Amino acid sequence: MSLPEFKLLRPRSVEEAVGMLHRHQGEIQICAGGTDLLPSMKQRLFAPKYLMDIRGIDGLERIRVTPGLGVELGALTTLSAVEDSGFISKNYPVLHEAVKTVASPILRNMGTMGGNISLDTRCLWYNQSLQWRKSCGFCIKKDGDLCHVAPGGKKCWAAFSADTPAALLCLSAEVNIASPQGYRRVPIAQLYNNDGVDRIKLAKTDMITSIYLPESSAGWSGAYKKLRMRGSIDYPLAGVAVAVKYRGKTVEDARVAITGVNPAPHLIPDAPHALVGRELNEHAAMVVGELAARVAKPLTTSLLTPEYRREMVRVYAKRAVMAAGAASSN
Ligand SMILES: Cc1cc2nc3c(=O)[nH]c(=O)nc-3n(C[C@H](O)[C@H](O)[C@H](O)COP(=O)(O)OP(=O)(O)OC[C@H]3O[C@@H](n4cnc5c(N)ncnc54)[C@H](O)[C@@H]3O)c2cc1C
Repeated sequence: MSLPEFKLLRPRSVEEAVGMLHRHQGEIQICAGGTDLLPSMKQRLFAPKYLMDIRGIDGLERIRVTPGLGVELGALTTLSAVEDSGFISKNYPVLHEAVKTVASPILRNMGTMGGNISLDTRCLWYNQSLQWRKSCGFCIKKDGDLCHVAPGGKKCWAAFSADTPAALLCLSAEVNIASPQGYRRVPIAQLYNNDGVDRIKLAKTDMITSIYLPESSAGWSGAYKKLRMRGSIDYPLAGVAVAVKYRGKTVEDARVAITGVNPAPHLIPDAPHALVGRELNEHAAMVVGELAARVAKPLTTSLLTPEYRREMVRVYAKRAVMAAGAASSN
């Protein structure tokens, strides 16, 4: 499959990039590592007139630690750089665990943090070639007006299928966004819409420039468990992230988040109640599993059945809580 024709733009600064987004609004798309966008363009899911390659912008590639505040990951920081960072693996293990599971080493060398959190939603009926989609009938996410997954419904259920946002939710990360009006900082918990089409609260002129991990989340024990078709390369069909802060053997604070099973990643709101003030044990882990499975709403967006994916959220949430407990005692 070939790429559709486009004009390549290469801004050298964030200001220039935002100016281009403003000037060509609706006809332009940001390309970072291109690992998701370019295959999607080959499938004609996108055919922007202008493709803006942001990799020439200086300063967006760094991992910057500010004592007392936390860490800033530039939007162009590759997944491999996060994986290789001793600082991240020591201080934010849940992110380190999640990033290691993304795709394959080569894709992690190209793929960026900004691209990962802005990833398009995925569905069995959408991530196909133009010919495939045409022969089956287009859907509401692209070119059509019906949903093959929930016939009669008006909402798109395509699943948000990036790994790191579940970990970032557990860390209370924030996202820095540049626009023609200036910069704004948004908690990642407020970034997504839970809608397969209108997935993310980014205007057409917005660009993510960095991600902040607060120091208050540093040193929490963490684990990430992921269901996928193969042991490598594949997107999550369910992902569970757990971060736990201990005082002695007692849980002082905890967060659990899921991805791959809804149109957005979600924090499990009641999980902290099941864990805080207790020692981690199998019963508490089982309760968290039940709570996570209740939030998961997988539909027929992949080859695995929704029932199986939901069950695996329960199983993996339990395993991730136990793994976070085991990691803390090492
Ligand atoms: C075979 C295969 C397997 C994969 N497996 C996984 C997996 O297991 N887990 C997973 O999470 N991902 C997976 N991916 C997807 C992808 O490789 C990663 O999510 C990667 O992090 C995307 O980053 P990128 O820089 O390549 O994004 P791009 O492809 O460049 O962009 C992705 C989207 O984000 C937007 N974007 C990029 N940067 C910015 C920014 N700074 N501000 C605003 N919008 C931006 C783009 O416009 C585009 O819509 C897989 C991809 C392939 C091809």
